[in-house]
Amino acid sequence: MIFEGLNEKFQNIFSQLKRKGKLNEKDIQAASREIKLALLEADVNFKVVKQFTKNISERAIGQEVMNSLTPGQQFIKIVNDEMTTLLGGEIERMDFIDGRRNVYMMVGLQGAGKTTTAGKVANLLRKEKKFKPLLVACDVYRPAAIKQLEILGEELNIDVYSEHDIKDPVGIAKRGLKKAEDGHYDLVIFDTAGRLQIDEALMEELVKIKETILPTEILLTVDAMTGQESVNVANEFNRLLDITGVILTKLDGDTRGGAALSITFTTGKSIKYIGTGEKLADIELFYPDRMASRILG
Ligand code: GDP
Repeated sequence: MIFEGLNEKFQNIFSQLKRKGKLNEKDIQAASREIKLALLEADVNFKVVKQFTKNISERAIGQEVMNSLTPGQQFIKIVNDEMTTLLGGEIERMDFIDGRRNVYMMVGLQGAGKTTTAGKVANLLRKEKKFKPLLVACDVYRPAAIKQLEILGEELNIDVYSEHDIKDPVGIAKRGLKKAEDGHYDLVIFDTAGRLQIDEALMEELVKIKETILPTEILLTVDAMTGQESVNVANEFNRLLDITGVILTKLDGDTRGGAALSITFTTGKSIKYIGTGEKLADIELFYPDRMASRILG
């Protein structure tokens, strides 16, 4: 399970502090150092770790902890608060506007889970918001990707717009949007191509699709298993496309959690959903406070 290693380490650090009773500056510095090591080992970005432990030490060394009757508890509360902030603080819901068509553009590297997540989001919002969704297949380079979206659509009974033998994703996007307008779909989700790494041609194409469909949300799908590397990927997608949010997938896997903890800090964009399995129902809204509790135990 994700965060298992990190959870165990935090539990150890906290139980040592609770045993100590009164805490002095040295105790707090030692605990901060241990937290720093635990986070680095969990593959959290070093800048994030630095800022996080700095915030904790500054608050803890002041009045808040040292004069408290239960300093250990107080310290844990600070770590919990800071962890919630790191994960995005207040939860940011999707930006639904009544009477306006919701146009979502899914972006991300190949294998991150874009296509699957496009289906999951369409299915979830049809259920929760009573939207009539349309999926549009703009990943023209992998014929299997179009087929995959079509199969997903069949399975979910959701319409899919696709064109075979035409390698013009911008044209497909345009015609997909037209179909959405003509058919009165109120949620259109565009599945776009990914590569194993970011490349210029792909980014140019994504920018063109963005300019064509004017998305209300650009959602970057990130595989939580990719750790630190995902931070660079997210920064690059954000720089070129100004994403509106992140969907972290594969949180059910055995990952150290570095991506989850670094991505909001480095991009300034919230994690909106998490993928928790391969099944189409395995998607949840992301709650920073719940995730913080899961990490800290
Ligand atoms: P794409 O290339 O980005 O479109 O990725 P796909 O949607 O094809 O997903 C790649 C693989 O990841 C597939 O085998 C999916 O079933 C799997 N996958 C996607 N999301 C999750 C998730 O949240 N948990 C798990 N365990 N697998 C996932």
